[in-house]
Amino acid sequence: MKTVAIVLAAGSGSRMNSDVKKQFMDIDGKPLIYYSLDVFQNSFIDEIVLVTGKEDIDFCKNEVVKKYGFSKVKCIVEGGKERFNSVMHGLKMIKDCDYVYVHDGARPLLDQEMLERLQYNAKEYGTAVAAVPSKDTVKIVDNENYVISTPSRNTVWNIQTPQVFRYSIISDAYERLDMRLQHISADDLHITDDAMVVENFTTSKVKLVEGSYKNIKITTPEDVEVAKIFIGQ
Ligand code: C5P
Repeated sequence: MKTVAIVLAAGSGSRMNSDVKKQFMDIDGKPLIYYSLDVFQNSFIDEIVLVTGKEDIDFCKNEVVKKYGFSKVKCIVEGGKERFNSVMHGLKMIKDCDYVYVHDGARPLLDQEMLERLQYNAKEYGTAVAAVPSKDTVKIVDNENYVISTPSRNTVWNIQTPQVFRYSIISDAYERLDMRLQHISADDLHITDDAMVVENFTTSKVKLVEGSYKNIKITTPEDVEVAKIFIGQ
């Protein structure tokens, strides 16, 4: 059985308001992207496809992959405009594979137990997406921020990555998305994760699996402070 992780680091990180892109920000002496690559390198995952900006490929090659000996990184590819474009570019590099783990490089705090849980469920259900029950009440609003409805909190989960799919499911989903994009603008689709692509373009059901409340996505400056505390532990 072969498993491949696509690690995404091609975002612009505009919500960080920083000169250094968030995926390369220094956390405890290492660039942020180091931490998720380190977890995959030391796991049962066979190969890693790293996706980054064209201008950052050399940095990733020399200052991350070579420097820290990430031998499972088989290729570093250029990302795309939207996250899903970056995933598509990563998927094109994969052949002969059973399971694909798509992971946001901006989430440094995944762990080995989570990967094991995801693998167990992906084998059982074909899909396994890391998530945690929402601690907050969630409201659906209109474009003037007036509340339309309040979903019952026990039906609301916050979605994380890794998101794991049997290769045939994710490749089929993204192929169909690619075909749809010939007729509709990406802006009209509002795709923010891989599960959405599977939900919208296949009949496969998406299974949520317990992630972790520590598995935050570094998005704004205060997330960096929280991540430093967890990584320091
Ligand atoms: O923008 P957001 O925080 O949702 O990005 C999630 C992950 O996807 C980040 O790791 C980011 O680097 C990556 N990404 C990407 N290509 C894009 C946009 C985001 O690889 N075009």
